[in-house]
Amino acid sequence: MVANRHGTALRAAVALTRRGIDVRSKGRLTLLGDAAHAMLPHLGQGMNQAIEDAAALAMLLDGAGRDDVPTALTAYEALRRDRTARVQHASRLDGTSYDSSGARLQDHSWIYDYDVAADAAARS
Ligand SMILES: Cc1cc2nc3c(=O)[nH]c(=O)nc-3n(C[C@H](O)[C@H](O)[C@H](O)COP(=O)(O)OP(=O)(O)OC[C@H]3O[C@@H](n4cnc5c(N)ncnc54)[C@H](O)[C@@H]3O)c2cc1C
Repeated sequence: MVANRHGTALRAAVALTRRGIDVRSKGRLTLLGDAAHAMLPHLGQGMNQAIEDAAALAMLLDGAGRDDVPTALTAYEALRRDRTARVQHASRLDGTSYDSSGARLQDHSWIYDYDVAADAAARS
């Protein structure tokens, strides 16, 4: 049994695996990885999504001056929000789909064939 205080924290953490956090950037600060979009483990994508975040940030911030950073971070949020939300959702779905037949397992090619560099290049 989880005590109330810890139960509240646990519920908040579980909620973050559903949709991430709404605003990831403020001024010249931003979040990436689990802090931005914690997810359930069923697709083994937590670290992979953090790496995609980092690649996107590296490309969008390349050559940016101090004053350009907030705009680049807005582009980063726009680039990463739907992708990470979709992986969060797919991971949750896969968690409900494991059975001996595997009949409900999803096609994962959209995860593994994705090219974050091409997507970031299109926005930089
Ligand atoms: C058992 C297990 C298996 C996994 N397998 C996979 C897998 O196969 N594939 C995959 O893609 N992902 C996997 N993951 C998920 C992956 O490990 C995480 O998604 C990834 O580590 C997130 O990286 P991050 O940098 O966002 O956070 P973290 O790796 O958690 O890094 C955060 C860092 O911040 C530090 N920190 C925290 N608070 C403070 C503070 N106040 N001051 C300073 N430092 C602080 C922490 O010590 C930590 O070093 C697995 C996770 C687990 C637990």
